[in-house]
Amino acid sequence: MTIRYICPYCGTEYAKLNDSFVGEVSLGLASLTDDERKHIISYETNGDVIAKVTCQYCSEAIYRNPELIHPLQ
Ligand SMILES: [Zn+2]
Repeated sequence: MTIRYICPYCGTEYAKLNDSFVGEVSLGLASLTDDERKHIISYETNGDVIAKVTCQYCSEAIYRNPELIHPLQ
């Protein structure tokens, strides 16, 4: 199973992790509520996990220009 990090803002897949390496704790997912998880985590038919997490570039852009924020959906 592979965990793919995709930025919801620019759509870039900026990280790919094999989960035999990393558990949910090290991914920072363990601290999420069930609701947040449903929003952020989705599962591909091939078993891959997609984590929609804002990339560093967009985080910085949003930090500088908060009006850039749009709903994730
Ligand atoms: Zn981005």
